[in-house]
Amino acid sequence: MKGDDELKKIISAKILGDVPIERMPEAMIEGQTLNIDSVSGATYTSNAILTAVEDCVVQAGGHVEVLKLLSNKEDNNEQTKIIEKETEVVVIGSGGAGLSAAVKLGELNTDCIILEKMPTPGGNTMITGAAYNAVDPEKQKEQGIEDSIELHIKQTYEGGDKIANIDLVTILAENALNSIKWLESYGVEFKEDIVAVIGAMWPRTHYPINNRGSDFINVLVPVATEQYNQELMLDTKVSQLLIEDGRVVGVKAESTINKTTYLIKATKGVIIASGGFGANIKRCREYNPNIPEDIRTSNHPGATGDGIDMAVAIGAATEGIEYIQMLPIAGGGMVTTAIDNQIFVNQEGNRFVREDGRRDTMSNAVLEQPGKYFYMIADQNTLKSDITRDPVQIEQYVKYGKIKKADTLLELAELIEADPGNLVKAVEEFNKHVETGEIDEFGREVYQNKINTPPFYASARQTPKLHYTMGGLRINTKAHVLDNNNNPIPGLYAAGEVTGGIHGSNRLGGNAVADIFVFGRIAAESLVAENYLF
Ligand code: FAD
Repeated sequence: MKGDDELKKIISAKILGDVPIERMPEAMIEGQTLNIDSVSGATYTSNAILTAVEDCVVQAGGHVEVLKLLSNKEDNNEQTKIIEKETEVVVIGSGGAGLSAAVKLGELNTDCIILEKMPTPGGNTMITGAAYNAVDPEKQKEQGIEDSIELHIKQTYEGGDKIANIDLVTILAENALNSIKWLESYGVEFKEDIVAVIGAMWPRTHYPINNRGSDFINVLVPVATEQYNQELMLDTKVSQLLIEDGRVVGVKAESTINKTTYLIKATKGVIIASGGFGANIKRCREYNPNIPEDIRTSNHPGATGDGIDMAVAIGAATEGIEYIQMLPIAGGGMVTTAIDNQIFVNQEGNRFVREDGRRDTMSNAVLEQPGKYFYMIADQNTLKSDITRDPVQIEQYVKYGKIKKADTLLELAELIEADPGNLVKAVEEFNKHVETGEIDEFGREVYQNKINTPPFYASARQTPKLHYTMGGLRINTKAHVLDNNNNPIPGLYAAGEVTGGIHGSNRLGGNAVADIFVFGRIAAESLVAENYLF
């Protein structure tokens, strides 16, 4: 196995922004041209490289416009090459669901080809906050947290307005911890502490050691490709499922960097793990016009819903496609993503929502506040008890003025230009409830420490982002894709954000990461176990 430190280093270094650095200068030199495409998903880095090279050309007395006219595509008339391949299983997408399926197939002595349209593996899983919900009696008991599988099922089902498929919810809750143990068996390290990530509704959120999705991807890629010899083809976009006698028997895919079409036969089946469509704001707004027109997305650019479209084209049913999640927090300049020990206040310094509530309720509440933003208020206790943020990073944010830090709440209020009286009152009221543990006027139930120890912190202004698509392909408990009559489509399985029916109308924070590793493995297991029966 080459899953050694060296390989991990190479893969972790290959984040999306590194790809243009690797590819663009080479293409410029080879083609002696500035007529180079930017790398999809890495536009800023691509533009920076082009601008820098143009500047150098000017300094050297060259002609930028001429070099821009010269094509590096001397092969414009080149014929499309068609390459045929054969494998046992095709996995579409190299995020958490796809990679866990590929590894599980490896464990079951089944070969697969993983097709990934982007230049790097990982999809949204690579950039996820990595919050992972699982009932874990051993760790939770240490912290005095009462929990049960039944409560996880209840909160997931009720948090999604009771429209999810309860059998899928049950499988998610029952297998979430198994999947953590499975990831640990391959070297993913998790922290000991358990918190409640925003929207989780309960402290059962685990974090891998660096709080990042790369903690998963950097382990699973070498395990899949080196330990189990699964083939990973990057820059290869699947466009069509191939059918023979009603059975899915492979895929058609195109290279995104040259004129090659692949026809890949899959003798045992196809697993769609291509993620959701949260990067396609237009499409999300078509399903849900309440989403603001000027909203930004947290998703990677490849989250466009291709897998849903290609399966629907051959008769697959969808579930809950209109349910789109906005995340109340925008990301940059946060103090913490755990809500156990912080409050949200608006520009007036007033609280306006329960911080341990549903994400949709919080996002809608934020959109009703003056300016449609809020601040997260925390103190030194928060930072000490927080496992989701790196204190060094927070100090950097403070240094550059994104996060405000003050010795008193009055000073903090001044820094964010909020009403000092309101802010002090909001914190005092919160602290009273920490003491009694009583539900407050907003319905908050989760409390940990008081906010009373300086320094105090206020996050940068937070505003909702388009974040997650609850709907997708209808599957059964075996991760088999169903048609409109609820019959399994022979040879076709799906897992992860591309599926619907697990999270109802609103997903609990931390449940998606559990979902991808639970159902990615199930898809692989079912495909092998069903062995052509379906
Ligand atoms: P992805 O990881 O998105 O992988 C799908 C892959 O398929 C992508 O690489 C994509 O490029 C590829 N693909 C798509 N179409 C094609 C095609 N036609 N051909 C070939 N390849 C294709 N959830 C939590 O539970 N906890 C969190 O803390 C959390 N934080 C998040 C933070 C951010 C910024 C984001 C965006 C999401 C977060 N989520 C979180 C949600 C969660 O990360 C995702 O739902 C999950 O990672 C999706 O995994 P996946 O494997 O289904 O899809």
